[in-house]
Amino acid sequence: MACMVGWARVNMTSPVTLADLIRDDKLLWCCCRDCGRERDATLATVPLPSETPVTEVGKHMKCSKCGSRKVSTTPELYPGGILAMRERWR
Ligand SMILES: [Zn+2]
Repeated sequence: MACMVGWARVNMTSPVTLADLIRDDKLLWCCCRDCGRERDATLATVPLPSETPVTEVGKHMKCSKCGSRKVSTTPELYPGGILAMRERWR
């Protein structure tokens, strides 16, 4: 199951933080490295400081399916999906 682990390495500059996601109105994509469960999370449900790097968020999360704490977190590529993004820019 591809989980896009290491996505953040594409951006070799400063790490993407929760504040960046909030500013860009993006979702947080969570993926369990043990069972492959994925889900989107809105930043409102993440009780962490806005300066927290996105890749660090997973360390504070637990998979709701298998209970594993090996959760990868990356920024969702499009806010609400590609169609929603097109609507917004029209
Ligand atoms: Zn899991």
